[in-house]
Amino acid sequence: MVLDKLGSSLKNSVRKIVKKGRIDKETVNELATDIQRALLKSDVDVELVQELTDKIKDRALNEEPPKGASSREHVIRIVYEEMLEIVGEETEVPMEEQDIMLVGLQGSGKTTTAAKLANYFQKKGLKPGLICGDTFRPGAYNQLKELSQRIDSVFYGEKESEDAIQVVKNGLNELKDSKVRIVDTAGRHSLESDLIDEMEQINEVVEPDKKFLVIDASIGKGVKDQANSFNEAIGIDGVIITKLDGTAKGGGALTAVSEAETNIAFLGTGEKLNELEEFEPDSFISRLLGMGDIEKLAQRAEERLSEEEMDMESMMKGDITLKDVYNQLESINKLGPLNQIMSMIPGGFNLPDDALDVTKEKMQIYKIIMDSMTEEEMKNPQKINSSRVERIAKGSGTTRESVNELLKYHKMMKKVMKQMKGGRTPMKKMMKKF
Ligand code: GDP
Repeated sequence: MVLDKLGSSLKNSVRKIVKKGRIDKETVNELATDIQRALLKSDVDVELVQELTDKIKDRALNEEPPKGASSREHVIRIVYEEMLEIVGEETEVPMEEQDIMLVGLQGSGKTTTAAKLANYFQKKGLKPGLICGDTFRPGAYNQLKELSQRIDSVFYGEKESEDAIQVVKNGLNELKDSKVRIVDTAGRHSLESDLIDEMEQINEVVEPDKKFLVIDASIGKGVKDQANSFNEAIGIDGVIITKLDGTAKGGGALTAVSEAETNIAFLGTGEKLNELEEFEPDSFISRLLGMGDIEKLAQRAEERLSEEEMDMESMMKGDITLKDVYNQLESINKLGPLNQIMSMIPGGFNLPDDALDVTKEKMQIYKIIMDSMTEEEMKNPQKINSSRVERIAKGSGTTRESVNELLKYHKMMKKVMKQMKGGRTPMKKMMKKF
């Protein structure tokens, strides 16, 4: 995929949000910094990056999530929407009879793109015709002719002619049967006055329905100046960014187009003639951020959290089983050290010291012990007498002490739950903190 480096850093940044237990200022700032880093590496303009991340931060911290959406899903949506803003709008390319003129500097990929476009329309059932209006570059005629043969498209060119305007006039007459006529024009190394004159004259002759500027993505944010200059010179309907497959600066190229007050029409993503994509901003950004996957992950995280919340609520009623203890220890471990979590609870409450002292290793032992218990023992641990303790210790390959420790732990947690229930902190509020 094109822009894979940018895509993977953006995906990682957004994924981090999914993993967070809650969205706070620190999380949002971290996300903004990650996005900034990724975009700057991809040559997106510094000011644009700053504006974008300021907006993301402002909206993420001040906007209420819409009904039914979690704050996590909301933040991900905001990133998506703001990213969409900076690549501009879609350029309509109607599927109808039309004349297209391609302009751009030499080496930008115009000739290749002309053939790619012919292939694109041919696949949509619109018979294309290619006209070589480049009498400046010696190899242009042969190149376009050869490409048109490859895709079985009609071609018109005059190998020996130096009069591009006349060649184009003749070509339009010859290719009357073609539904989409694509005119390739000459490029130069820079936008010199003779290039402008020639473009203007061809423009008058063709009266194109669409004028596309072809730009090489490797110039990154430099696309803005080039697009502006061509726009002023002859007016363009959209930009085709080529060679997006071979550069890390693609992010700069993509975002610079909308800064130049024009839009992207197509993307060139390889040397092959089918490597041309219609630019659809929403699906492009969606892919770049891995939105489908991210949204699914976010939903799963929400579901998991609400399941845990339900478990906690039933435990509060005092129906705490050993299985609950285990699940609860597991989710607490995911959230962070227990004492830190307790310190977040407003009002606080007294927790026995050893409740904070359950290490991962101990949890592992508790799990092994629980695996050796019957359903009944898990549900009603108070019924476990000393001979059962002996059996469980043997069965699990642990000791009586460990089994007793687990039973003690269960009792203590039951007490803690009661204390929470009777405490000053409203249950809901506390769950939110969790
Ligand atoms: P022109 O001078 O503007 O007509 O440019 P060309 O069409 O001759 O292209 C210049 C070079 O860029 C050629 O080697 C093309 O194969 C290559 N090229 C064009 N588009 C792409 C693209 O999207 N990806 C890659 N990797 N190469 C491309």
